[in-house]
Amino acid sequence: MRVLIGGGTGFIGRNLCQVLKSRGHEVTLISRHPGKNRFTWDELSRLGLPPCEGVVNLAGANVLNPLKRWNDSFRQEVVSSRVETTKSLAKAIADAEHPPRAWVLVTGVGYYRPSHTTKYTEESPGGDFDFFSRLVTSWEEAAKLPGGTTRQVVVRSGVVLGRDGGAIGQMLWPFRLGLGGPIASGHQPFPWIHVLDLAGIVTHMLEQQGLSGVFNGVSPSAVGTTNRDFARAMGSALRRPAFLPLPGFVVRTIFGSERSTMLLEGQCVIPKRTLESAYSFVFPSLSSALQDILA
Ligand code: NDP
Repeated sequence: MRVLIGGGTGFIGRNLCQVLKSRGHEVTLISRHPGKNRFTWDELSRLGLPPCEGVVNLAGANVLNPLKRWNDSFRQEVVSSRVETTKSLAKAIADAEHPPRAWVLVTGVGYYRPSHTTKYTEESPGGDFDFFSRLVTSWEEAAKLPGGTTRQVVVRSGVVLGRDGGAIGQMLWPFRLGLGGPIASGHQPFPWIHVLDLAGIVTHMLEQQGLSGVFNGVSPSAVGTTNRDFARAMGSALRRPAFLPLPGFVVRTIFGSERSTMLLEGQCVIPKRTLESAYSFVFPSLSSALQDILA
């Protein structure tokens, strides 16, 4: 299958490209920057969709970039880098003479209201209570196609763990130095997934005919995992103490109060439809995921 990936140069995209190529698929990226095997967003809007059977969108400015102040201009960039790129791809698919078979958008579990007790499946309500949940609603809305020839899938991802980026990329050094620990109380749920499982789920969605709609991209054991469990598992995988909590006020000072909810709160998410789709997780437990990532 020829697969076109918006934002495929990033952390998840690099891992997805690897998984797709290992399964014999061909990959073309859409990026803001021209290059080999790449289309730019401008070329997509001028020339339309290049020939492909699958399309994925992973584009989006990094919300937890500590160097960016959480002000109106960055909020706008966070929204438009997701919603406008998704609209461009949806339009290109709708206008294509030979539309692809599958269109997969990766969004986030920020759709569901943070809670220590409520368990969310793909059928649970959400999407209308704060900035991030409303962002997911407009992002998923932007992906909708008018016609029915292309299968449409949304993967709502949790915190993606991997060797070369994402959350662990930012936390590794404090943990290696024995300065890691839970964030604030650490009681908040930690809806995690190994990056190779997220890439595996997206590949599964592209390959399997008949799958459409929303699928949660979290590990099956994520529903019982708290931020404190994650800190402990990191400490034990690295054989370092991991008891020093990162106080909530420090997180709020760095990220601003709205953005710090992503770290100070969390959702208990169950990948119900993902498991029903017969996707088989490579790293279902946190210890196996961290052993692989930190080896
Ligand atoms: P990265 O930041 O690693 O990569 C995203 C890509 O988006 C970049 O490589 C870049 O491609 C493109 N991009 C960045 N800023 C902009 C912008 N202002 N306008 C247009 N494109 C931009 O992200 P991840 O791979 O970690 O995440 C991919 C998607 O998955 C994102 O939408 C993210 O919100 C979502 N997600 C990620 C989670 C995680 O834990 N990592 C959790 C849940 C959802 P280029 O420079 O080539 O244009």
